Amino acid sequence: MKDRYSRNINYLRVSLTDKCNLRCRYCMPEEKEQCLNGDRLLTDDEIYRIIRILTSSGIEKVRFTGGEPLMRKNVFPLFRAVRQLEGLRTMSLTTNGTLIPLYEKELRESGFDQINVSIDTLSRKEYADITRTDGSLLDSVRKSLDILSLMDIMVKINCVPIKGLNEDAIPFLAEIAREQPIDVRFIEFMPLGCHKKLTGIGSDEITWRLEKRFGKAEKISGTIGEPAVYFRFRGFKGRIGVISPLSHKFCRDCSRIRLTPDGILRPCLFHDDGADIRTAIRNGASDKDIADILRSVVMNKPYEHFFNDSSGEGSRRNMNMIGG
Ligand code: SAM
Ligand code: SF4
Repeated sequence: MKDRYSRNINYLRVSLTDKCNLRCRYCMPEEKEQCLNGDRLLTDDEIYRIIRILTSSGIEKVRFTGGEPLMRKNVFPLFRAVRQLEGLRTMSLTTNGTLIPLYEKELRESGFDQINVSIDTLSRKEYADITRTDGSLLDSVRKSLDILSLMDIMVKINCVPIKGLNEDAIPFLAEIAREQPIDVRFIEFMPLGCHKKLTGIGSDEITWRLEKRFGKAEKISGTIGEPAVYFRFRGFKGRIGVISPLSHKFCRDCSRIRLTPDGILRPCLFHDDGADIRTAIRNGASDKDIADILRSVVMNKPYEHFFNDSSGEGSRRNMNMIGG
């Protein structure tokens, strides 16, 4: 489905829950907020219905995210049902990896094409500091990489480098791409919601730091519709990616819309407007009504975000409430 700037909108990110077993400093507020529960959360049937209608209206790729998507109760039948949808080309998951060892069998049977695991450091002390936990779950995350490496799916690692928190982890995480055919991606910190005080490390600096360590990087032409710019270092099995929504914004090629756990269909991560599909469904909307809502969200997708501008425009929601 084309928007009014002729971008092909074919990618839906579905946030299954705002709950998480970690409280990463760049994503969640320190104090525990009341999580979405009961009626405020879309049901499995509602999520399935929305995805079914959207995949018959031009959405080809679906990524489940959160919060921590594997925290959603009994979520695997939903994954398996979505996998069967005719219009769906790829189904993927973004997870913090802590629960993969518990659900290895269910994940194998879900039919994911790609799983992205977020790991910001390999140091237990830093992991504890970033995630505001005792750090013990880092062992599960590392184990999850071993498990995933034995599955026939694409695996990527996501890291958000933050000044003073995990700067030293950058080359150690990159080493994973040297040893295994896994892409390691560094995502620029986005000061959404309540996280304006942290300072991220820009993608140019990350590339420069890695080149200092591993030698000249060869730029690889990117995948259409993917925001990451990829590099390969000599002798590496996987690629290194940098994602720079702020310093090199990629709005011109954006193909995404997002569904929040409370049923708002959003055209952009950085704009708070969107359509309330949950209310529409509960007021008896037909499949055609929902497809019409999708069309109007796509048509109203803004051309770009102005996050860096003095207007201070941005989302008031924290990342776990939108689905990063
Ligand atoms: N819990 C899962 C995880 O951590 O992968 C999925 C949800 S998380 C919100 C999705 C991705 O967003 C993660 O890779 C996380 O590192 C990234 N993220 C969260 N807050 C961010 C922020 N403020 N700026 C940039 N990336 C962020
Ligand atoms: Fe949880 Fe993922 Fe946010 Fe970390 S980044 S607090 S793991 S939702």
